[in-house]
Amino acid sequence: MADPDRIKAVADHVAFTRNHGNDVVVVVSAMGKSTDNLISLANAVSGIQPGREMDMLLTAGERISMSLLCIALAGIGIDAVSFTGSQVGIITDTVHTKAKILEVKGDRVRDALAAGKVVVVAGFQGVSTDSEVTTLGRGGSDTTAVALAAALDADVCEIYTDVTGVFTADPRIVPQARKLARLQFEEMLEMAGVGSKVLALRSVEFARNHNVPIHVRSSFTWEHGTWVANEASEGGATMEDPVISGVVQDASESKVTVIAVPDRPGISAALFENLANANINVDMIVQNTSKDGLTDISFTVPKADMRAAEDIVARVAVEIGAQAVTHDADIAKVSLVGAGMKTSPGIAARMFRVLADNNVNIHMISTSTIRVSVVVSLSDMETAVRALHTAFGLDSGTAYSAPLPERK
Ligand code: ASP
Ligand code: MG
Repeated sequence: MADPDRIKAVADHVAFTRNHGNDVVVVVSAMGKSTDNLISLANAVSGIQPGREMDMLLTAGERISMSLLCIALAGIGIDAVSFTGSQVGIITDTVHTKAKILEVKGDRVRDALAAGKVVVVAGFQGVSTDSEVTTLGRGGSDTTAVALAAALDADVCEIYTDVTGVFTADPRIVPQARKLARLQFEEMLEMAGVGSKVLALRSVEFARNHNVPIHVRSSFTWEHGTWVANEASEGGATMEDPVISGVVQDASESKVTVIAVPDRPGISAALFENLANANINVDMIVQNTSKDGLTDISFTVPKADMRAAEDIVARVAVEIGAQAVTHDADIAKVSLVGAGMKTSPGIAARMFRVLADNNVNIHMISTSTIRVSVVVSLSDMETAVRALHTAFGLDSGTAYSAPLPERK
């Protein structure tokens, strides 16, 4: 929706879908960089930004898009009506700038559809239980779309973006990355959780919880993209499925190390409770075995929260008698994600071997049942992503498959 031509192209596509006998509800995001521009304007006016006023400001972006799209649709003879999040009853909690959806009423959407109209809804926004306008966090239009699709029992939620689907790696780092035809919800959840920007994490959680299939595709080409759905709805996993679905990198975190902490009960609790109380999202945590009753604790936090985290950690470090606090912003997290890991042992070991062969030092490790993540130096990030993509057979061509079981 970046410019008038793009809005007209979207209108044409909506008309096409509508004329093929579908009821269509469109959720729009703000035009191009307009949300960023609104945030810059706020920054230029004051460093103190009340959440309520930021939400009043940021919801304006989607309002512009929704009305312009309806105007473009009127121009090609399609009867359309736009609504804000509040008008369609997207009810959220009261946390400004990152509100959670509690309920979608959708009555006005149903009525307008019944009257034969195309419905255009402003994404990324709702109205709180206190009747205030709220926003759902950056990328929140995805969440609006999935939530509406669930509430309206839609056949599919198509998410149009600037890439043609979900790839095995970021094509800017790995030119041989391939578009995935399908992914399971849990894989997409892990990918979004470790830094993939294709879909907002919340939207995938919502889709999984309400079993809404998502089709991620490009609004520039209309080619088939990536289906994100329940494993069962696509006939279940097969032996030929790749063990690894993708490699994801994230350079948005910093590492903090508290050095020579006394090794006794309550130290981690004191440290992380204070960070949690400040709403700082701690990701990976590593504590070393102690030597002479002292240990080191390292953890990662979003770079954006680093300043706040530093103040808290410096204060707590004094209280708990730690020797020093260091921090390293030049790190990156590299993750392998794949549902096939559940049945294919040795993935972590193979990952570490590949990294070692490429001279990449590992600072931290964490795993889930379908993911292995490592923290490496930022300067090693691209080497690590490319090496892993090749080693696990993800480069365009054949995928790395689970070895067939021995025949008895
Ligand atoms: N316009 C909002 C943002 O830039 C919501 C979205 O794009 O999904 O984050
Ligand atoms: Mg978006």
